[in-house]
Amino acid sequence: MPTESTFLLAGLFLLLAAAGWAMGRFGEREESDAPPPLNIDYLKGLNFLLNEQTDQALEHFLEMVRVDDKTIETHFALGSLFRRRGEVDRAIRIHQNIIARPDLAADQKDQALYSLARDYQAAGLLDRAEKVFARLAEGSRYQVQALENLCRIYEQEKDWQKAIEAGQLLEQVGGRSLALQIAHYYCELAESAAAEKDYASARAFVKQAQTGRPRTMRGALTRAHIARETDDSATALSLYNRIIAEHTYLIAETLPEIISIYRREGKLEELDRAIASMIDDDPDMSALVAYTAIVHDLGGIAVIDAAVERYMLDEPTLAEFVDLQELNGAGEGRNGVLEKVRRALGKLAAATPRYQCQECGFSSQRLLWQCPSCRSWETQRPASRVQFDTVLQHSITSR
Ligand SMILES: [Zn+2]
Repeated sequence: MPTESTFLLAGLFLLLAAAGWAMGRFGEREESDAPPPLNIDYLKGLNFLLNEQTDQALEHFLEMVRVDDKTIETHFALGSLFRRRGEVDRAIRIHQNIIARPDLAADQKDQALYSLARDYQAAGLLDRAEKVFARLAEGSRYQVQALENLCRIYEQEKDWQKAIEAGQLLEQVGGRSLALQIAHYYCELAESAAAEKDYASARAFVKQAQTGRPRTMRGALTRAHIARETDDSATALSLYNRIIAEHTYLIAETLPEIISIYRREGKLEELDRAIASMIDDDPDMSALVAYTAIVHDLGGIAVIDAAVERYMLDEPTLAEFVDLQELNGAGEGRNGVLEKVRRALGKLAAATPRYQCQECGFSSQRLLWQCPSCRSWETQRPASRVQFDTVLQHSITSR
């Protein structure tokens, strides 16, 4: 929330610059050490400020202080101060005032346009921001920054085709690879096409996504989904297995699909063997399988149920809730007790964010390919366990 004190501060800033400008003028003509007479306009502006009539004060200052070589930096500083404080309307007004100056140097005009575009962006006026950035992207000192901001706007607008164009141009002028980012733009297009059942286009987009380096498994996931949708179970399974083999963390995105394919084919015994051999090859997979099963409520498959049971009994925090001695003496009631614990764990898991960005720590319930906070691509990783301590803390404090 912007405060009036911000404006007071900014007003004084401008007032000082204006006084400096006036002194410069008088000083050239008069050889006197006496200060220039106090201008009645400054006093009027100051009066607005002191009465907290901030809009009137801003208008007054803008009318009073011409933008010229001596005051232009102050205007820029003031504009960016307002933007940073969230007072975007005022920032826009100041930058427009600079642009309106008839004899503005080309470089200063670009700087003012870039600042104005950032004001528009901050105000959520994306169409206007896009127009100004696009103009600067054609060739200016701000070409790289303008293209970066254009990518950001197209991401927000989900205009992936334009994002690809801006990204490719940015690679050329910025001299750095954006292969992963552009691959995700293509994946976005592929997923949209697949959702419309336009599988030919979806496959073509995946192919383009997979031409760059580093590669993303997201393209393979889309191909696997298409194969599953088109009843090509063998291809779907082989892709899902490859995805897990290369990135175990994607098991949450793949295991439910794998189970649904085996169920559809009526081959649950084969599924049992496939998962058992996966856990044999890499014992760490057991906890990942169990966690995924708890979160997605995947039950009724022996090898998965066994992994879930192991997981529950290995969890030290749970020992305080489940008395293992009692559990072993419970005989036939044992499964009932375990089932209760499993359901409780599922609820706890659903109540806590599962994914966290490795760059900035932003967390979310479901996998997001782009972090909404730091805008990095593919930096989220899931928690492999329910964070009991956090959950218990949360449930206690929110009571
Ligand atoms: Zn992040």
